[in-house]
Amino acid sequence: MQESFDFSAYARGVRRFSRALMSSVGSGAEISGLVHLLTVAAERDLVRFSGSQDSSRIVCGPGCGACCVLNVAVLFPEAVAISRFIRRRFSAGEIDGLRARMQELLVRTRWLDDEERLFLREPCAFLDRQGSCMIHAVRPLLCRAVTSTDAQVCQDAIAMVALHGAPSVEMDLFHKQLIDTVYCEFGWTLEFLGFDHRPMRLATAVLALLDDPDIVSRFVSGEKVPIH
Ligand code: SF4
Repeated sequence: MQESFDFSAYARGVRRFSRALMSSVGSGAEISGLVHLLTVAAERDLVRFSGSQDSSRIVCGPGCGACCVLNVAVLFPEAVAISRFIRRRFSAGEIDGLRARMQELLVRTRWLDDEERLFLREPCAFLDRQGSCMIHAVRPLLCRAVTSTDAQVCQDAIAMVALHGAPSVEMDLFHKQLIDTVYCEFGWTLEFLGFDHRPMRLATAVLALLDDPDIVSRFVSGEKVPIH
């Protein structure tokens, strides 16, 4: 199935689907629901179109935070869904703790490019002490695109990045390409409809939304949101 999979046709389908959904959103709850639908559809398509043999080789999942030291980009609607999840699922004290972690991470990594961030191995603010993602249910699309077949190789690759001799990580490329397609088409949909379509740093966008949920109304009205 994968060899003959028509990614261009799939991309057109995602575009149609995301445009239809995005054309009618007006609130944070609707944006969050749209991201959920898009994600569920992508996960369903992975099961539908990928060979079960390849999928079973993927070792990424809750509890493996091996690669959670990479910069992660999100589209604004993804950050809306994450910030709403955090407000619903975490106590006020836990949210304060998460805020502090995000602020600290941003101070430490603000001027670092992807490779420099990797070198420092600063973990994501949402990675808990057991190595689990605290927002796994609503994690960004680009986190879902990671499809390693060997967690140890991921750890070795990250540990050796400074030596420029990192081993290559074998991935399920079909899975990665499908999720990347959803991310790109969703971004183009936002641009096409006149919404802010910039990729944003995960912690920057979520922190801004926790501090000021009203940013959503500026996004909905087509303004560039005040996130840099
Ligand atoms: S959001 Fe979750 S999966 Fe993504 S980098 Fe952070 S801890 Fe890892």
